[in-house]
This record gives sequence, C-alpha cells and structure tokens, in this order.
Amino acid sequence: MSIARTDQQTDALPRPRPGGRRALWTVAFVAALTLAPWQTHRWVEASGLAELRRVGDQRLGLYASGIRTAVGRYDYLPFLLAHDKDVLALLEDPSADRRHTTNRLLEDANEAAGAASLYVTDRTGLTLAASNWRDPVQSLVGNRYDFRPYFRQTMATGSGRYFGIGATTGLPGYFLSRAALGAEGVAGTAVVKVDLEPLQRDWQAAGERVMVTDGNGVVFLASHAEWKYRPLRPLAEPVRAQLAATRQYAGADLRPLGLGDGPDGMVTLSDERGRAFLMQELALPDFDATIRLLADVEPVLAQARSGAVLAAALVLLLAAGLLLARQRAETLRLQREAHETLERRVEERTHELAAANQVLRDAQEELVQAGKLAALGQMSAALAHEFNQPLAAIRTFVASTRLLAERGDTPSVLGNLGMIADMAERMAVISGHLKTFARKGPARVEAVPVGQALDRALLLLGQRLRQDGIDLTRAVPDDALVRGDAVRLEQVLVNLIRNAADALSGVEDRRITVSAVRGPGVWEVRISDIGTGIAAEHQARLFDPFFTTKEVGEGLGLGLSLSYGIVRDFGGSLRAENNPDAGATFVMILPEAAHG
Ligand code: ADP
Repeated sequence: MSIARTDQQTDALPRPRPGGRRALWTVAFVAALTLAPWQTHRWVEASGLAELRRVGDQRLGLYASGIRTAVGRYDYLPFLLAHDKDVLALLEDPSADRRHTTNRLLEDANEAAGAASLYVTDRTGLTLAASNWRDPVQSLVGNRYDFRPYFRQTMATGSGRYFGIGATTGLPGYFLSRAALGAEGVAGTAVVKVDLEPLQRDWQAAGERVMVTDGNGVVFLASHAEWKYRPLRPLAEPVRAQLAATRQYAGADLRPLGLGDGPDGMVTLSDERGRAFLMQELALPDFDATIRLLADVEPVLAQARSGAVLAAALVLLLAAGLLLARQRAETLRLQREAHETLERRVEERTHELAAANQVLRDAQEELVQAGKLAALGQMSAALAHEFNQPLAAIRTFVASTRLLAERGDTPSVLGNLGMIADMAERMAVISGHLKTFARKGPARVEAVPVGQALDRALLLLGQRLRQDGIDLTRAVPDDALVRGDAVRLEQVLVNLIRNAADALSGVEDRRITVSAVRGPGVWEVRISDIGTGIAAEHQARLFDPFFTTKEVGEGLGLGLSLSYGIVRDFGGSLRAENNPDAGATFVMILPEAAHG
C-alpha cells in the first residue's frame, strides 16, 4: 500500500494537471470574449465620433459664413441711409412732403437690396418712413420702437444689431441700425431688417439639426421649426421679464427645449427622448450668438454595437476552431490507441489460438491413436481367428509333410510346403495391413500428383485387372495436385480399385472409371464401378474395421477402414454412394496442393 502511494505521488508531481490547463484556457477565453467586444466597441465608437466631429466642424464653419454673408450683404445700408441727405432732412423736419420723399426712397432702395424692410425712426423711436409704407396692415410708419434694444443700443453707441420677431409684422428678422447724426447729435436711426428664413430652409433641406441661440440661450434660427424661440434651458425670471419688455420673441411661449446631459458628453433633447446627440458649437461673437449643430450618434453607436458583436462572434469562432482542432487531435489519438490495442489483442489471440490449435491437434492425434488402439483391441479377437486358422492348418500340414518326407514322397512334400508358404504369405499380408494401421499421424505432407499415384496403383493391380478382363477408364487431369503422402494415397487407390474389381466379379460388363474434378480448394477423386453396389444395411458399417461381405480368406474388412483414416489424415474425406443405374462410387475429397 505505502509503496503504491509513493508511486502515485512521484508520478503526479512533474505532470501538468489537465484540469489546471483547462481552467487557464477558460479564463483566457472569457477574457477574450469580454475584452475584444469592449475594445472594438470603444474603438469603432471613438473613430465614428471623431469623423462626426470633423464633418461637424466643417458644417459649422459653412453655416456661420452663410449667416455672415446673409447679414453682411446689408451692413452698408443703414450706414448709407443715415448719411442720406433726404433722410437727414426728414429727421430735421418731418413734414408730409419729406416723409413721402423718404418713403419712396426707402421703397426704391429696398427694391434693389431685397431686404425685409428699411425704415427710419426719429430720436424717440417713432418710425417716420418705411419701405413698406404702402402696406395698409404691415406698414411700420407711425410705430414706435423705443423699447427695442437695438434702438437703445444705436442711440447709445451709434449702431445696433439684434434678432427679433417683428413687433408689427410678426415676422422674424435681423435688425441692423445706424444713428443718423444731425446738428444736435443723434437725430434718429436708419434700420434694415434682414430675413434669415431662407437660411433655415437650406439647413432643413440638408437634413441637418442646426440651431442658432442668442446670448440668453434662446433659439432664434433652427432647421426644425418646433425649436424656434425656445430656450435650451429654463430661463431665469429677470431674463423672461426683459424678453417680455423688449418683445424680442413676441408671441412665443419660451417653453424650454430641455437640453440634457447624455452619456459620453452627448446631449439629449426632451422632445427626442432617449436619443443622444453630439453637440458642436461655434460662437458668433459679432452676432452675440452661438451656432450649434446636433449630430445623431445612433448610427455610430449601432456600428460600434455591430463591431462588438462581430468581435464576440470572431472570438467564439476562434474558440470553436481551437476546440474542434483539439477534439480532432484527441479523437485521432484515441483511434490510434484503440487501433494499437486491437492489433495487440489480435496478436495475443492469434498466439493463443495457435497454442490452442496445437493442443487440439495433439489431442486429436491422441484420440485418433486411442481410437486405433481401441480398434486394435476389437481386432485381436478377429485376429486370433484369422491367425489361428492358418496356424492350425500350418501345424497339420507340417505334421503330414513330416510323414510324407519320411516316406520319401517328395512331390507331395513340395505340394504341402507350397500350401504352407501360401498360408504364411496370407498372415504376412494381414500383419502388413496392421502395421500401416498402427502408424501414427500423417507421415509426410507433400504435393502429390493424383495421376502419378494412380499409375503406381495400376502397376500393382494391372495383372489382376487384365486377368478379370476389366476396363479402366481414367479422367485425371495432369494438374490434379493434392496434399498428402504419395505412398499412402497409392495404397488408398489400390484398396478402392481392388474393391471395385471385386464388386465386378459376377458382372458381364466390367468397367471402372477413375476421375478427378477440381472444386474450390479441393480435388474430388471418384472411383466408380458398375458392379453389385452397396446394400442398404451395409452402408452404415462399410468403414468399420473388419467389416466385410467377402468369403473368409478373400477379404479382411480392413481396406476401407484404413483408407478412411488415411484420407482423413490428409485433411480430406471419403464417402460411398450407389450409382443411380448400377454399381457404387467412392468419392474422395482431397485438399488441393499449390502448384510450383
Ligand atoms: P474387404 O474388401 O476386405 O471386404 P473393405 O473394407 O475394403 O474390406 O470392404 C468392406 C466391404 O465393403 C466389402 O466387403 C464390400 O461388401 C463392401 N464394398 C467395398 N467396395 C465395394 C464396391 N465397390 N462395391 C460394392 N461393395 C463394396
């Protein structure tokens, strides 16, 4: 036990724990899955916003110069009017004649200039002449504008500029005014009102969000009409009071736009809830105004989100790829291992099988041998009979021969001796058979040409067949090669042909056919006669040792039994069958031998 534990400890130390490595991978994966989208989002958002700012700055410059150009076109007009002698004469003496003359002058001048209106007030703010003097409703003549800041400004400093909604017309415009100097200082003012509405239409058409706010943060020009005359943030009370007094945005309710702080320095508008804008500003100090551009950041944020999702997908894809590759490697390793194990097992089993086969073969041989010995035991009784008879006869012959020899009857002696020799010969034949029978296992296994074995068998039997007038037909191909022992195959053929010849003894037409036909991996050798055939009751015992239907002294009943054993030793088989018309056929199946 203690030894095993020590082994485990020393084993565990140098090897990295697979669990630890997996945890490391997981941490790396989670980190990548969080960081990559976050960083991508940041990067895409930052570069998108930078681009928005760059474009915004350009636009702001363009809009500012648009405003300056629109107003600047008329900058000279109040100055010119303030120095016009007709205007100065009017201010000196506002007679009906002079009013009329100035009205016509202003009307003509504005026809050429294309401003909203031109007018002249006296030092109290009363309008003495105006370009729209003919308009019965909107004519400014006779109105007093002393409450307007630009008037006060002009009276105080010599010039004024101001954005406001026309107190009479209700139309917005930018007012530019100059003081007209008479003999006793400022005698009145000359004013031009510039219509800036066309600028807004351009912004609207460009699909921009632009607004221009005054010093109080009230929007007075905007691409969106609903923003106009609304402060960005709620106004302080004094400011409201002042605006009401000057009627700068007469009729507007000054509801705040509700500019709020959004995320990442963005702004929100209460009208467009939840929407974040990038607000860029450009101060217009000469107008005491600020021009503001609102850029929708939603497309940039959407881009950043897509970028983040893409980054996450990439990380996942990468992780999946890595995992797949690892799994593949693992599968391949397992397959290789399984293959190796299988190969090892097959090898082991093959060895075991070979060993088992050897044991079986040994056992089989033992059994065959035991079977033979048992048969030998059965045989001894028959043998005693077989041997006793000739032995008794020999003894009798020897005794009578001795008497004949004493008598000097030489011819009879010789006759007796011949018979004794015959009987001895017969006993020798029996014992010869027995020797073959007792031989153990297949002697040799070689390639035996069936034709050659048949030739030798016929050499032994030729005399006999000729004597009996038997015709032997052979149909054995030259390439009929079987595995076995040449001498023993020859012995089998001798037995089978001799039996066939015996079966033909009482038959007229004496014919034996020996043929060999190739089967799958075997040769089928048939010895066929047209003799007596095999009686049904004998069929089962045909191959038993000492079974014979022949007269005592003619057959020993060992031929088929021995032949059967030999053929089986070759790995083949032997069977007997009756022919349909007459006689019997013995069929030998022998394993084919390889050529070469
Ligand atoms: P034996 O020839 O000494 O009788 P075998 O074992 O060779 O002994 O034959 C046994 C018996 O089988 C024969 O006695 C005979 O009855 C029968 N037998 C063998 N071959 C043939 C055959 N070709 N036709 C008919 N019977 C046969």
